[in-house]
Amino acid sequence: MKQSTIARPVEWSGLGLHSGVPVRVVLDPAPLDSGIVFVRPGEAGAADIEIPASHRSLHSSSRATTLAAKSDPSGKGDPREAQISTVEHLLATLYALEIDNVRIHVDGPELPAMDGSALPVLDALTVAGRERLPAERPVITLSDPIEIRDGERFIRAAPSHRLQITYAIDFDHPRIGRQELALLDFDEGCFARELAGARTFGFLHEFEALRAEGLAQGGSLENTVVLDEEKILNQEGLRFHDEFVRHKVVDLVGDLALLGAPLRAHVSVEKGGHSLHHRLVRAVAKAAAI
Ligand SMILES: [Zn+2]
Repeated sequence: MKQSTIARPVEWSGLGLHSGVPVRVVLDPAPLDSGIVFVRPGEAGAADIEIPASHRSLHSSSRATTLAAKSDPSGKGDPREAQISTVEHLLATLYALEIDNVRIHVDGPELPAMDGSALPVLDALTVAGRERLPAERPVITLSDPIEIRDGERFIRAAPSHRLQITYAIDFDHPRIGRQELALLDFDEGCFARELAGARTFGFLHEFEALRAEGLAQGGSLENTVVLDEEKILNQEGLRFHDEFVRHKVVDLVGDLALLGAPLRAHVSVEKGGHSLHHRLVRAVAKAAAI
């Protein structure tokens, strides 16, 4: 299989979930072996800061995946640092579409929330099209299983000929409860059918606490499935009966994309989240020496 990039530039904009301000995203094709790179404009004429979509850029696992990088990776010159948050839905979509190389210009500190799912991004990237490049895609394989446990929660990656995902969540809430999803043939079609439409979800009490801290200013029923103690507040209801676990799988795929190459493994997760996903990504990167 050859590497690829997008066939033509594409852009979209929307509100940032936390800032509540409009954010514009512009994707440009990129050459082979350049990878996926976020580009934050420098202020007042300063040079842009590049943030590679890599496990090496991982900065925070709290509520979303946040990446950070220094303007001068050698640490000797320009001391500026830039962050980009909520990268997981875009990275999941690029992973599913097998797009290895792209430059992503973002004029704010987080990706726009859009409708809370990966679907608007998938639509935009489908319009952009894909162009194969004349070099092979690297792949990541495992020689032994890797497992990380945290009490009753765990994440495990076992050697496999392709990416397979088994994910379970268990929330003590009457509209969620235990949900399990097994995707043994993960590919572009599977992502489009089973995952892309699943939205971010959150609880009303958390939302109110975040608002009080000045976060979630752009959060609304337009981009989040919101639950109070017993019900879903969105009038339109759910897109899938198990939309919650499906969204968790989107987040997982976006986090696995930080490995920088497709992972040939069966990943099983029990009660996961970004923090557990990131621990696996770091462990796989170490085992694969990447
Ligand atoms: Zn998400």
